[in-house]
Amino acid sequence: MPEEKHPLNSIKATTPEPAVKSTEERFAGIGASRGIAIGECYAFVKDKAHHENQELHEKNISEEIERFLTALGRSEKELKKIERVTIRKLGKGYSNLFQAQIMMLHDPILIDAIAGRIRSEHKPAHLVIEEEFDHYLEKFIQSDDEIFRDRADDLHDIKNRIIRNLHVRKLHSWIPEGVIVSSDNLSPADIILLSRSNIKGFVTDSGGKTSHISLICKSLNIPIVVGLGNLSQKITTGMQLIIDGTTGTVITNPEEKTVVHYLSKKDEEKKSEENTSLTAMLPATTKCGIRIIFYANIDFKEELQAIRTAGAEGVGLYRSENLFTDGTNVPKESEQYSYYREMAEMITPMLLDIRLFDIGGDKLIYSPVKEPNPNLGWRGIRILMDLPDILDNQIRAIIRSNIHGNLAILLPMIISVDEIQHVRTVISKHYQELTKDGDSQIERPGVGAMIEVPAAVELIEEITRCADFISIGTNDLTQYTLAVDRNNVIVQNLFEKFHPAIIRQLYRVIKTANRNHCKVTICGDMGSDPLALPFLLGCGLRRFSVVTSDIPKLKSLVSCYTIAETEALVEQCLKLDSPAGIKACLENFQAAH
Ligand code: PEP
Ligand code: MG
Repeated sequence: MPEEKHPLNSIKATTPEPAVKSTEERFAGIGASRGIAIGECYAFVKDKAHHENQELHEKNISEEIERFLTALGRSEKELKKIERVTIRKLGKGYSNLFQAQIMMLHDPILIDAIAGRIRSEHKPAHLVIEEEFDHYLEKFIQSDDEIFRDRADDLHDIKNRIIRNLHVRKLHSWIPEGVIVSSDNLSPADIILLSRSNIKGFVTDSGGKTSHISLICKSLNIPIVVGLGNLSQKITTGMQLIIDGTTGTVITNPEEKTVVHYLSKKDEEKKSEENTSLTAMLPATTKCGIRIIFYANIDFKEELQAIRTAGAEGVGLYRSENLFTDGTNVPKESEQYSYYREMAEMITPMLLDIRLFDIGGDKLIYSPVKEPNPNLGWRGIRILMDLPDILDNQIRAIIRSNIHGNLAILLPMIISVDEIQHVRTVISKHYQELTKDGDSQIERPGVGAMIEVPAAVELIEEITRCADFISIGTNDLTQYTLAVDRNNVIVQNLFEKFHPAIIRQLYRVIKTANRNHCKVTICGDMGSDPLALPFLLGCGLRRFSVVTSDIPKLKSLVSCYTIAETEALVEQCLKLDSPAGIKACLENFQAAH
């Protein structure tokens, strides 16, 4: 890659204006959720913020010891979970390792030593834990005995686990309201928790357009700029910021004239959104009269209020994993039931496709084991098949909620027909059990497969004969087809949805689904891209599931095209061998309409 084209090189400040002593600086990132935010920044530092090194006040000593003991409890819970999974996957032999770690958490000498030093030295727990464990670690590392040297890693792991657990769930209490949050790296759980403090916008060093944090911000209608390299190191709490989630621009210490400019831009954006909303209530049809359906992608129940006014005809993707707030607490069947039931009631007779928990990967990490490559690891359907309790509870909750018959189940990360069959069997078992009285009104939900891994594309013939519907997840399909991490800023320029490999896969999937009379929807971010719209129509796609705020604009664009001309466009695009060529072809087509 030529040096100047590398994304990390584009992240640099432009020269500030010299006239008055301006400290305004501009930075270029990736605009991943549109909107303009102007305000004060809060520099969110995940770990360090919790590690206060000051001496403790006498009155805080008991609380600190309590915190240490709670952290031991949480660590034990995590280790037991690892132990259970290990037994299931590798047998009992390997699980001894974790039993030994759990025993260490109960070691009275260690616990007394740490609690005693917190009490006598007034030191915060994390410092004492660090020192006590390091004392043992040194001995282990220097030991002549190989067994002890091997155990050093375990000791290190327990130390970090306890320290991390000192701080869990302390997050949102100390975030001020109405700020723009800057951080090197945020997880979906961080965004969800922080958004409750009326956050105006987010800026992060890492991430890409289709990272889950970006998609969640889009759903929440909060601007976010990602992929800013190391900008978080330059931003401090209290600094004035402007962020533009459309262009990816971040401005620090803006001058007054810049603020005025962006305030009026924000106003214009609002007006233009209001205008397109007026036409959104009408059904979308192409110029030649073919009906196109737009569903909404949602992350939270609260978004349902907005989908009708945006002109959505249902929900094509509800990301149910957002019910996990911290990645480890599985929502109970009863909690899920009341949530899904309320959603079903709210949108009936419109459809709601509930995607089963797609935990793992870059989302809420369920695995307590640090996976070297989580996106290729324990994620989505794999976790659900390994931990049947989670699958059973979710399926029961969905079936029980389906009193209006408007719910369907969507399966994440499918790579085989067996996985679909497995879930079908589980659904049948619970459906029979829940309706055995004979007078039950609940309907059996349909089963759909996410097409987001190249293996599913290869098996599309079989999958579209086995599933009731499919939904194409172009975010992961792009990631896995091109071997480009959707969150990694260094390779974001290679994350190219118009790559010939992707558009050929889309063509094949849509054609096969239509031939087999299997309902097909796109729910990846590509469905929101106006440039992709005529191509997808030309492939035969008639259902789109996109972030709610994009629906009005897409509905009005549909009427610009006839299907015949989009089919000719597809023919042209399929002959091209580069993303640049395909984009140019699509841009020409767009310009001509
Ligand atoms: C996708 O992968 O395109 C998709 C819609 O699922 P998610 O973004 O939630 O992984
Ligand atoms: Mg996906």
